[in-house]
Amino acid sequence: MLLKKGASIWNIVIILSAWAVVKVPMLVNEVKFLGLKFMVVRWILTIISILVMAYIVSLIVKRENIPFEMKVDNKDINSINIKEQYCIGCGLCTRLYPDIFVTNDGKASLIKGKIEKDTNLDILEIVEKCPVKAIQLS
Ligand code: SF4
Repeated sequence: MLLKKGASIWNIVIILSAWAVVKVPMLVNEVKFLGLKFMVVRWILTIISILVMAYIVSLIVKRENIPFEMKVDNKDINSINIKEQYCIGCGLCTRLYPDIFVTNDGKASLIKGKIEKDTNLDILEIVEKCPVKAIQLS
């Protein structure tokens, strides 16, 4: 699901790792049995380790290395959203897909609010090519 939504390898590693090892009940138990100092030091080192691991994994593993069907069925996608605050107005999306995107006042926007369900558009290509990941699926 994260891949389909366009999440980077870096973000996926962070989300999965945090979900696996950063749990509030565990922190409470650590304080209770091992003390606050132990919990704080272990928690900080865990967060640092997760960030380092995410960086290393993102250098080694690319999306194309993951044995996952990267093509998204356009029927599964309700719409493309552009996070205006992230858009740097590079114009890449409008050059690649002039029927769908337009740039006004240095920001991209959708010509159509929704993608045609029967379009042959490669949605993930759009999401991946935006340099600031301003294009998101929902
Ligand atoms: S590719 Fe991304 S940053 Fe560039 S104009 Fe389109 S939405 Fe904005």
